[in-house]
Amino acid sequence: MIRSLRVVTVLIILIITLLAAEPIDDKINFLPEKDRAEYFFDQGLGYYKVDDQLKALNSFQEALEIYLKRNDKANIARCYNNMGNIYNNISMYNKAMEIHLKSLEIEEELGEKKGIISSLNNIGNIFKNISEFDQALENYQRALNLSYEIQDDKSISITLNNVGNIHLCKEDFENALEFYSRSLILKEKLQDNQSIASTYNNIGISYQGLKMYQKALQNYNKSLNMMNLLQNGNGIATAYLHIGIIHKEQNDTKNALFNLEKALNFAQNHNNKQIMLSCYNLLSEIYSEQKDYYKAFTAMKLYAQLKENMVSAQTQKTISELQISYETEKKQNEIEKLQTDADHNKLVSKRNDLFLIILVIILIVVAVLGFFGYFELRQKTSANKIIEEKNVELTVAYKKMEELARTDMLTGLSNRRDMYQNIKHETDRFERNENPFTILMADIDNFKKVNDTYGHAAGDYVLTSISKLMISFMRKQDIVGRWGGEEFLLLLPDTDLDGGKKIAEKLRKRIKNEIINFKDYSINITVTIGVSVYDRIHDVSESIKEADKAMYFGKIRNKDCVISTENI
Ligand code: GH3
Ligand code: MG
Ligand code: MG
Repeated sequence: MIRSLRVVTVLIILIITLLAAEPIDDKINFLPEKDRAEYFFDQGLGYYKVDDQLKALNSFQEALEIYLKRNDKANIARCYNNMGNIYNNISMYNKAMEIHLKSLEIEEELGEKKGIISSLNNIGNIFKNISEFDQALENYQRALNLSYEIQDDKSISITLNNVGNIHLCKEDFENALEFYSRSLILKEKLQDNQSIASTYNNIGISYQGLKMYQKALQNYNKSLNMMNLLQNGNGIATAYLHIGIIHKEQNDTKNALFNLEKALNFAQNHNNKQIMLSCYNLLSEIYSEQKDYYKAFTAMKLYAQLKENMVSAQTQKTISELQISYETEKKQNEIEKLQTDADHNKLVSKRNDLFLIILVIILIVVAVLGFFGYFELRQKTSANKIIEEKNVELTVAYKKMEELARTDMLTGLSNRRDMYQNIKHETDRFERNENPFTILMADIDNFKKVNDTYGHAAGDYVLTSISKLMISFMRKQDIVGRWGGEEFLLLLPDTDLDGGKKIAEKLRKRIKNEIINFKDYSINITVTIGVSVYDRIHDVSESIKEADKAMYFGKIRNKDCVISTENI
């Protein structure tokens, strides 16, 4: 979903970009990237040739961006070289240095020795322009060593010429001459006429510095001839100027004037203001010396006008340099911003991806935990429910068991075990309030006969009926229990022996009068009751035994009677 959204966004941006693009750029935009870069690079070279430094710089910058994107290092270095040279030309030395150093780094990385030599020479040129001659020489020397190492005559000749330039700047004309001469030999070998013509000129300057005017003139003339052949107007003008200067220094006014006017002519034709300026200045001097003040004045006026023109041109140049700086800075910032944005977007996208992954993991974990938690809870709940139910069941069963354990199955009365509990309870109570309690031991007379006569079921029914009768007949606080087969133990709380005897008697009579109807039979039974009291003198089990003894006593005494312990 997110991916498809992203794709759609990119497509929209692409469409907008294409729609927004200027028509002229359309064709370029549809060129393959590599061709587009070449197009800009060539455009840069074109602008550079017609001295439009700003446009050249922009074109190289465009090419550079593509090459940077493609990580095409060789071409990146190529762009840097050209851009560095432009910055050097427009006196932006820091920028030039920065770019040439970048280029050098790339060439070193690529192990491209010719490129390294070129960068070292360019760096040397910057140092020359800021009059750091030693550092310039240092770089040229490195370039020279490397040039010899790869035996590349062109590199050697260029570097030798550059070293010569430094010596010339330092007015070390002898050394300058030596390097220019060495450079010249290789250039002649390479038949690089343009370079040869320039070097003749440089040699001429060196000789001139050494005040060897003949030699200087020879070389200037050689340069002039070659420049003529090459139809290099600026070169021709330069040669005429130097020749004119030499004649002037030698006070050969006629030749001086001739050559300087020639120089001026070519300079004017090629709009070489620097040479024009020199020419006006020198001509004015000569006319003045000739006392031709009008011509001197005219030349001086032209000089002044041109100077002014050049100053404003210089101002203009400064302005355009500033513009270049501004544009470059802007471009650089844009690139950096793009880079930062790209990095940021990458980071954000990475962060988003990471966030999504973490979120998904968390969700999965939560879901799994939740499922297990729910499952566990459900299990727990159902387990708890089952346990609870089981507990209830167990409690019920336990209560039932307890009840069963305490109750006689047939009659529902307390059994012997429970009766012991009740006796204990009564003895405890006696300890508290000292109130005596009476024990009745009642035994059905001739019960065996009932069973034998009416059957065991009738016997059971009689037992049940008697139990119910005893429960209903006795007081609320009295406890009736089945002590054995047809034996009942009754506990009469807060009752002394006399009270007990009376109740026993009443009970005996009540039972005697009861007719128990079972099936077609009307059964009548009697009981013999033994009575004892608990008074702490005896142990309670003694009292029970005594009640039992009294009951037996009654059996012996013809049954159907109440016998207390007094009577035995
Ligand atoms: P006595 O007057 O001397 O007490 O004579 P008796 O026949 O009552 O006493 P005996 O000890 O000789 O017989 C008791 C009979 O009670 C024997 C037994 O079969 C019967 N019996 C004991 N428990 C039960 C019972 O739960 N149901 C029935 N139907 N009969 C029982
Ligand atoms: Mg008995
Ligand atoms: Mg009996």
